[in-house]
Amino acid sequence: MVDFTNHLDGDLLSDLQVKKETFWANDRLKLSGSSESKEMIEAGQLLSRFAPYLKEVFPETGQTSGIIESPVKNLPNMQMSLQDYYQINIPGKLMLKCDNQLPIAGSIKARGGIYEVLKIAETLALKHNFIRKTDDYSVMADRKFIDFFSQFSIAVGSTGNLGLSIGMMGAALGFKVTVHMSREAKQWKKDLLREKGVQVVEHENDFSHAVEEGRNQCTLDPNCFFIDDENSRDLFMGYAVAALRLHKQLEREGINVDQEHPLIVYLPCGVGGGPGGVTYGLKHVFGEHVHCYFAEPVDSPCMLLGLSTGKHEAISVRDIGLSNQTEADGLAVGRPSALAGKMVNEILNGVYTVSDENLFKMLALLHASENISLEPSALAGMFGPTLQVIQRHLESMPRTIGRLNQATHLVWATGGSLVPPSIMSDYITKGKSLL
Ligand SMILES: *Cc1c(COP(=O)(O)O)cnc(C)c1O
Repeated sequence: MVDFTNHLDGDLLSDLQVKKETFWANDRLKLSGSSESKEMIEAGQLLSRFAPYLKEVFPETGQTSGIIESPVKNLPNMQMSLQDYYQINIPGKLMLKCDNQLPIAGSIKARGGIYEVLKIAETLALKHNFIRKTDDYSVMADRKFIDFFSQFSIAVGSTGNLGLSIGMMGAALGFKVTVHMSREAKQWKKDLLREKGVQVVEHENDFSHAVEEGRNQCTLDPNCFFIDDENSRDLFMGYAVAALRLHKQLEREGINVDQEHPLIVYLPCGVGGGPGGVTYGLKHVFGEHVHCYFAEPVDSPCMLLGLSTGKHEAISVRDIGLSNQTEADGLAVGRPSALAGKMVNEILNGVYTVSDENLFKMLALLHASENISLEPSALAGMFGPTLQVIQRHLESMPRTIGRLNQATHLVWATGGSLVPPSIMSDYITKGKSLL
């Protein structure tokens, strides 16, 4: 085993090793005001150009005119349930960002994954003079385009949801898509993709291995695009666009985010691209008024490990003896993204871990109190508002001290709407039995 004595506090290391729920506060956090990100704005513009196409090909995006977006929701009953069950007061207001309802892929991966596929499609179509940026992109639903894109392939490694997102979008455009699924991937996700004509390769190994296989496949083929969940800036910026939209949503809901009203956001973290992109976007939009925490399973605290040791992708949870086996399949990642870790290094408040048991308990509590069904990974953020150690952390910082009563706690629900009803009902039964 590697020696961490110079990198990691002894108590933190032993908590992680015995899978005790724990919290790491980021001592590199720097406060800075809001600012513009050209990359993020351009990503938003690309998605707008594709809105007419998406509306035509995926009628479920019609309600939002072809923009892939999810609502925010108040959770008054869940706030009470959490307070009762965990015996803690949650000052401020609890809300949910419902990415479980995102169209097409039913998870947060509909942001980054679909963005990157669309960007590949646009780049190819522009290069071959099939479109101009000012055209109505709904023409891309025509046979001519499907035939054109079918000369190209896309490969990706995934624990399930990224594969779903890229597979659904890529196949609709006409690409040949191969998804390398890690051992965690649920059978129903593989079945759904195969129905859409996506090639699914199953691996008995974990996520990093599946990514490696996808990468290898593509290096041999000049017409293959590899979507790299461990390094992709495009994926990252696709996720970031959420912040621009959230800004408008909260305004419409009459929720202030300012000096007196902090926004505290809790994000489930796998390899880090999704929560990292969202955090990057939120910090640009809300500056020092937003505070972000990542949540990881006790078996897969890869980002906590990468950030706290400063080793980023050079360290894996296996190096401290953890198995990376969790029911939270979307978060079952042993080695963090190098890109995401470096991008959030100075803007993230901290990372906490949560047990699978608590994920299932909160799954059942949310179903009972609000009639909302999420997949287990998507509950990780819900644990944050119940943690005394996070409330203390916020109370220790100049921007949030004394202001938690006016805070909005936004829990990012990252997936669930595509889970088959029988599997969801097993999840709820399991959660109830633990309460
Ligand atoms: C992928 C995923 C996440 C985390 O995103 P990363 O980019 O892997 O950090 C969270 N929740 C669900 C349901 C996911 O599928």
